[in-house]
Amino acid sequence: MLQVQGLVKHFGGIHAVDGVSFDVAAGECVALIGPNGAGKSTCFACIAGQYPLTGGRILWNGQALEKLAPAARLRHGVARTFQVAQVFEALSVLQNVQLAIEASRAQKAISAFKSLDRQSVEAAMALLVQTGLRESADDDVLSLAYGAKKRLELAIALAAAPKLLLLDEPAAGLAEAERASLMQLVKTLAGQGMAVLYTEHNMDAVAGVADRVLVLIEGRLAAQGSFDEISRDAEVRRLYLGDGLGDDGDGVNIKGAAHA
Ligand code: ADP
Ligand code: MG
Repeated sequence: MLQVQGLVKHFGGIHAVDGVSFDVAAGECVALIGPNGAGKSTCFACIAGQYPLTGGRILWNGQALEKLAPAARLRHGVARTFQVAQVFEALSVLQNVQLAIEASRAQKAISAFKSLDRQSVEAAMALLVQTGLRESADDDVLSLAYGAKKRLELAIALAAAPKLLLLDEPAAGLAEAERASLMQLVKTLAGQGMAVLYTEHNMDAVAGVADRVLVLIEGRLAAQGSFDEISRDAEVRRLYLGDGLGDDGDGVNIKGAAHA
């Protein structure tokens, strides 16, 4: 189980995350939502190890993560994707996933001069099938459509066989149908026992997908609960979900919440 306890991250005078506590259990799919600038990506960077904490604790299965480098956290099963997909553009789709598999097996950075071994091909292909990229295996990443790039980033994260998967806007920029299919895949991963925490702006990628929703506003958790619960929360509606709605008081803006 992931336990985030009193997480604080300040950048100088900017209180990006200001005392946030929550848990994510194995098998749970949890959405972290909130307006732009709420601190969602900063939370992810603190959990995955890109940023040192200003305060608080992060425990994964009882083990403190705060002082571990990202690669060490990955060895403990903590993998993340980024809001802007991070992939190797000079390699093919298959090679990207092979490289990720071999890097996680080697448990250290692999040499740029080592050739990719044949053994990882099968495992990489299995991940491409799982993420719907089989047909794109030999494509150059440079030529990939945006949605396929987001899937590839997920395949790369899965290559480390993570137990905790942190997905920062996994479906951002995707059309509705593509977003729905990607989110079903994300839900399936949690169903297989992974702890999944993801951020998202489109409420159709939260409703029916997340078991639980955390609402982050200005670095603090404003509410948490089921999607129905948080969408009835008066403060959440006023500060985030209610944007652009009439004052009839029911139903949320399902297409997309406040998005600058
Ligand atoms: P979100 O992902 O919810 O949109 P972020 O976590 O990216 O929000 O940002 C939260 C706040 O922290 C914003 O005010 C942002 O400008 C600030 N911030 C994020 N990263 C940095 C950084 N590396 N240096 C300074 N300020 C940052
Ligand atoms: Mg963000």
